[in-house]
Amino acid sequence: MEELADLIAASERVVAFTGAGVSTESGIPDFRSPGGIWKRYDPTQFTFSRYVDSAEVRRRSWEMRREFFRKPVHPNAAHLALARLEEAGRCLGVVTQNIDGLHQDAGSRRVIELHGTAREVHCIGHRPRGGVPHGCGWRAPYTWALDKVARGDHDPLCPMCGGLVKSATVSFEQVLPAGVVEEAYDLVSEADLLIAAGSSLQVYPAAGLPEAAVAHGARLVVVNAEPTPLDELATLVVHGRAGEVLAPAVDAVLAPGR
Ligand code: NAD
Repeated sequence: MEELADLIAASERVVAFTGAGVSTESGIPDFRSPGGIWKRYDPTQFTFSRYVDSAEVRRRSWEMRREFFRKPVHPNAAHLALARLEEAGRCLGVVTQNIDGLHQDAGSRRVIELHGTAREVHCIGHRPRGGVPHGCGWRAPYTWALDKVARGDHDPLCPMCGGLVKSATVSFEQVLPAGVVEEAYDLVSEADLLIAAGSSLQVYPAAGLPEAAVAHGARLVVVNAEPTPLDELATLVVHGRAGEVLAPAVDAVLAPGR
């Protein structure tokens, strides 16, 4: 923890890269947690092309979203620590693979969501192909769709053009939103310290970002519950829970008189 605090204190351009593991302490399971939502809904079954082709897959997908949003969730110590670091001018921003919006709830202002957001739904057009949504541009809060589903419409369509409506998240096989990957690469290439927290660092192209930061001369810190394939690139590896590691480290950095 002290080593982490020293590294943050010695850096001028910290960027955080986060994955599902930063939100498990908020009660949102990652893909590996035992007994979590992903044991009942296999995310690999919800590919973009299956979603487009099958009303049954869309019905299951909305069911899964209802379950995802059933319990209110709140930012935990890890989200709050990163927001405090940014607020103090010590962190340039967060690149996240998460779709839960908890970094923003914690107060982080610069958040690049690589895999979109579950907080919104959008039109993806009538029969989009090749993993690329071709919607009319209509978007709404996720509650628009879940209200429809609750009232018995299990495959709500776009009110503007009649196209398919999907959560504004990136599914398997789906191309990442235009510009987002570039924005993320730009941000991590400015970093002199990249903190990768709560990510298995196995999902590409996202996992290429810590590698890019290192290639640009940044030091890498990995904070994760278990080893990752990028540990050998890291200056420091901390095995532990993200909130329990990041909160005291940020407290130490921001302590008066440091
Ligand atoms: P992942 O599930 O592959 O890996 C999560 C990692 O975090 C694991 O290595 C696990 O050991 C570790 N971990 C779990 N709890 C932790 C904690 N409290 N502290 C530190 N480490 C912890 O997740 P990923 O790398 O983000 O990639 C998989 C995909 O999962 C992403 O595409 C993401 O969009 C999606 N996803 C997002 C959410 C979310 O938004 N909260 C939830 C589930 C899955």
